[in-house]
Amino acid sequence: MKLYNTLTKKKEEFIPIVPGKVSMYVCGPTVYNFIHIGNARPMIIFDTARRYLEHKGYEVNYVSNFTDVDDKIIKKANEEGVPSEVISTRYIEECKKDMEAMNVKPATTHPLATQEIGGMVEMIQELIEKGYAYNVDGTVYFRTRKFQEYGKLSHKNLDDLRSGNRSLLVTGEDQKEDPLDFVLWKPKKEGEPSWPSPWSDGRPGWHIECSVMAKKYLGEEIDIHAGGEDLIFPHHENEIAQSECCNGKTFARYWLHNGFLNIDNKKMSKSLGNFFTVREIGEKYDLQVLRMFMLSAHYRSPLNFSAELMEASKNSLERITNAVSNLKHLCGNAASEEATEEEKALMAELPSFEKKFDDAMDDDLNTADAVSAIFEMVRFANTHAGEKSSKEFLNAMKERIVSLSDVLGLIAEKEEGILDADIEKLIEERQAARKARDFARADAIRDELLGKGIILEDTREGVKWKRA
Ligand code: AMP
Ligand code: ZN
Repeated sequence: MKLYNTLTKKKEEFIPIVPGKVSMYVCGPTVYNFIHIGNARPMIIFDTARRYLEHKGYEVNYVSNFTDVDDKIIKKANEEGVPSEVISTRYIEECKKDMEAMNVKPATTHPLATQEIGGMVEMIQELIEKGYAYNVDGTVYFRTRKFQEYGKLSHKNLDDLRSGNRSLLVTGEDQKEDPLDFVLWKPKKEGEPSWPSPWSDGRPGWHIECSVMAKKYLGEEIDIHAGGEDLIFPHHENEIAQSECCNGKTFARYWLHNGFLNIDNKKMSKSLGNFFTVREIGEKYDLQVLRMFMLSAHYRSPLNFSAELMEASKNSLERITNAVSNLKHLCGNAASEEATEEEKALMAELPSFEKKFDDAMDDDLNTADAVSAIFEMVRFANTHAGEKSSKEFLNAMKERIVSLSDVLGLIAEKEEGILDADIEKLIEERQAARKARDFARADAIRDELLGKGIILEDTREGVKWKRA
């Protein structure tokens, strides 16, 4: 499998540090609002990368943080007159709901920056001891010029950066030894959350969070580090500097970055105000459509969001789900079990679609071509499945379409929901149980329905129900 590595600017064969295992860190969102569909791009893309690695048989340790201490969170907390953690807790919960709706698997670990402050203080201390960091009046800076390889990820020329940055120095920053030095620890300001440290009561800089969380949950040297391309500089460059100076090891072997999601060919961002939240899109579309939209382009290319492309993605998804439900329907009515010789010959062609799929994904996660391979299989199924087909033949096609879709996180087979008539029947049974004072049975029925996403409400007019 080849992955494009930002560090070397080349597609490289992926070789994990430990055979059969992959350690992967993906920078997560800052939680001060609902996530927007730009934030959803790395979530969907790197979840797909993880699923594909798992499909290839790797055991993936996938870590993605929530940045839950940040100026924007503090600002929002002050606006609402609540502590910061009320804001971060709220939006972490909301983000998790969006992830589930996009069929993004929960990470192996989702660390929170505020729960890892001890590790950050330790790493900063070690950097000071090794001469890579210095304290000025309670602010600790990283001594960038001491790390010879600074700039290796973003391929930036340090002298240009230095002269460019000199004019950008803001008041209070003139205490830095070098314009490129960045903050590891800063003293608190009035009304801000803070933690004690040897230098001041304060809070960590953003970059140190990820270095510490990656080290704690994945080790000093990891296979893959990923995020949006805006993170290459300075965030990831600084993470490399901190981790490699502290640990004396290569921090991450493969650096993967997704391109930006744009609107009207302009970068989608909260500060420009031209963004849609995942929640807003979820009101109009099943979020599987958003996932299909993200997969329709190569992850490193810019992607322009438009209603037309969303409609096209909706149609694409329906082509797959319709084919699967047709196969299921035919299977339900099929007269014969075993495949005929002719069907067996057709079934022998199925692995070629899987090979196309794998070849596409092995080539730096070419999801667009992988989706095309699924379409080819759908076309094949639509051509060859009929009322006379055997169950074995129909199932073989259905299972392959469903399992390859699943590798991309696309749900091709909808769970059969409970029918209205069955709900009514259970409600009647529950009423009868209550009349007979069999409350245990009545509660069991309520729970059973809840498990199927049906919420009961006892009103004066009788029992009402709704789907969750
Ligand atoms: P943030 O909450 O801004 O730290 O962003 C969380 C993740 O979303 C990072 O990996 C960003 O690079 C990524 N991201 C933010 N905006 C976009 C966008 N418009 N397109 C693609 N990725 C984005
Ligand atoms: Zn990060």
